[in-house]
Amino acid sequence: MNKRARVLLLNAALGPLDYRVDPQHDVQPGSIVLAPLGPRQLAGVVWEPEHMPSDAEVGDNRLRPLAAVYDLPPLKESLRRLIEWTADYYLAPPAAVLRMALASASALDGARTIVEYRPTGHVPPRQTPQRAQALERLENRQGIVRELATIADVSDGVIRGLIKAGAIEPVEVHVDDPFPTPDPDHARPDLSPEQTAAAQRLTQAVDAKAFAPILLDGVTGSGKTEVYFEAVAAAIKAGRQTLVLLPEIALTEPFLKRFAARFGHAPVAWHSDLRQSQRRRAWRAIASGEALVTVGARSALFLPYRDLGLIVVDEAHEASFKQEDGVMYHARDVAVMRGHFESVPVILASATPAIETRQQVAQGRYEEVKLPLRFGGATMPDIAAIDLTQDRPDRGRWLAPTLVTAVQDTLARGEQSLLFLNRRGYAPLTLCRHCGHRFKCPNCTAWMVEHRLTARLACHHCGHVMPPPRACPECKEEDALVACGPGVERIADEVALLFPDARTAIVTSDTLWSPAKAAEFVHRMEAGEIDIVIGTQLVTKGYHFPNLTLVGVIDADLGLSGGDLRAAERSFQQIAQVAGRAGRGAKAGRVLVQTFEPDAPVIQALVSGDADSFYEAETEARRHAGAPPFGRFAGIIVSSESLDEAVNTAKAIGRAAPRVEGMQVYGPAPAPLAMLRGRHRQRLLVHARRALDVQDVIRDWLGPIEKPRGVRVAVDVDPYSFL
Ligand code: ADP
Ligand code: ZN
Repeated sequence: MNKRARVLLLNAALGPLDYRVDPQHDVQPGSIVLAPLGPRQLAGVVWEPEHMPSDAEVGDNRLRPLAAVYDLPPLKESLRRLIEWTADYYLAPPAAVLRMALASASALDGARTIVEYRPTGHVPPRQTPQRAQALERLENRQGIVRELATIADVSDGVIRGLIKAGAIEPVEVHVDDPFPTPDPDHARPDLSPEQTAAAQRLTQAVDAKAFAPILLDGVTGSGKTEVYFEAVAAAIKAGRQTLVLLPEIALTEPFLKRFAARFGHAPVAWHSDLRQSQRRRAWRAIASGEALVTVGARSALFLPYRDLGLIVVDEAHEASFKQEDGVMYHARDVAVMRGHFESVPVILASATPAIETRQQVAQGRYEEVKLPLRFGGATMPDIAAIDLTQDRPDRGRWLAPTLVTAVQDTLARGEQSLLFLNRRGYAPLTLCRHCGHRFKCPNCTAWMVEHRLTARLACHHCGHVMPPPRACPECKEEDALVACGPGVERIADEVALLFPDARTAIVTSDTLWSPAKAAEFVHRMEAGEIDIVIGTQLVTKGYHFPNLTLVGVIDADLGLSGGDLRAAERSFQQIAQVAGRAGRGAKAGRVLVQTFEPDAPVIQALVSGDADSFYEAETEARRHAGAPPFGRFAGIIVSSESLDEAVNTAKAIGRAAPRVEGMQVYGPAPAPLAMLRGRHRQRLLVHARRALDVQDVIRDWLGPIEKPRGVRVAVDVDPYSFL
């Protein structure tokens, strides 16, 4: 009889397939292999057949042989179970989850050097606008041809032309250079007594080598990072790996610096901005166990750590841990599951924990470690509301007189201010003064947002851009376009008018699109080269600028307009976090919150500092409504380029809805974002009691539904977005 192996291939459309294992190959569950599929070869992982049933059993005589077995550590059982759990819970193909574990195709093969390219500084003999643009954008970046072309926004051919012309040169890169080992005793801080107690509990949990979900609940500036660093130090001492998850890649660079200051060396970074060679090096070091500490965005969660000892989820309340396409998982929740399968502690650090997490603590499933005070005697900032119905900005302006005065005073003291508005661009809506025409995205149910910095109108959903036209496309009137409402760029204009000498910076994903840009911003803030920051939610997290003493929230009502079940909570978290940037050093901080509803519970909670009653009221409202964490939701999104097909499939799904005790199905109805990237979207919402296995119900329900080729049905389990 042939030896056979069941293999999960990196192709989400396929189930597991069986292969013949020839005698020269040695495989076990978890082995990473290369297998033939039609005329091609694909990477995959050997799986236990009992964990991965196949409905296409092939006789021994028809099996094709495995092409190769990689010389890499097999995926551990704990990771295989996590992949299965994630696929099962989020109703995703296991291969799509596996892809996140084998995240770097180039990591798999043996080559130890690759050729990258970088600008030489020579101007090519024949210059073209494309070439000039490429060289300007590349500065001194390095990478393979495809990466350089992407950075420079030119075709591969332009880069190749520049290589031929000698303006870009090849460099041989050793991709497996070892990473330095962080030193747990490099620069240990003197912890306060509260911090010491908290750190002791965390290090104990690491030493116990057992699953323990722990909420590290500490006010902004209390030293949560310093405290969990002690747990990281304990893991390093034990020779075990740590994974630190951050909500934004913009935060990695400052984190790396801070980590290096504490441990002598930077940790291994994992995020989408890495070059292929860096990904390979990181992946292999993680798989071999050499990378003792990895910091990354949510995709770092599925990497094949050889010997994980600790997981930290920093800013654990952040909604950006929820992935909204592909496998729609929540990295915070999967991190806890990984901790369970690996038998290691999971620390969720936050100053504003999610209601879901608080509830786990209340039920005794998670432990809570508290840091109620700011470190070093720094006080919490004083928060006051500005009632916009009384304290009105001038016409066409957005800063109330009180806020203007406060910025002025802060400038006069040589301190820094932060103005927060969670809206990119200049204005959220552009219309024609003459005929009222509004600029809409052709692909989405969304307005085109004006960006003056780049002189474009852009759709924030699909990325569609167009130059702002001089004449209205509807009535042809010239110069009649008006901007409605403010974005950060418009606030920056107002600031420039009010304080012409102040040095300002706009901080959004448009300006801080890479870790390097974020690092540059931090550097300029620390060097005192910026007086006023105008930023979106990107500046609300993590940063520590001791000279920043004033925070102005331009529109506190903005977050409440969305109206989904977490709107009030999210608003509270966002404003509390941005307020937490003020007065973190020796100087006291002040926060002014502009609102039309100073009596709204969110604003009251912020001003009075009584977060607990606010959370209690929100929690009770959720309990009453059977909303998470007391009940469960799942969104079913049906999309197609054809409206009819989308509607008909959604209706068919609605008609087939099973009657299950404790479960209601709402819809189908057009999604609030009725059109996205050229696809029409219909939504159904499943609401179920907590104990119900909705995934099973949905699997049985959607399995038999016939759908036309162009229709996609996506299930969003525990949704965060209701668009
Ligand atoms: P949080 O993450 O809770 O907002 P941080 O860990 O960023 O707080 O700490 C706030 C600031 O105080 C940081 O600059 C940090 O280095 C400093 N800090 C906190 N605890 C200590 C300590 N024990 N010794 C020295 N500096 C500390
Ligand atoms: Zn669009």
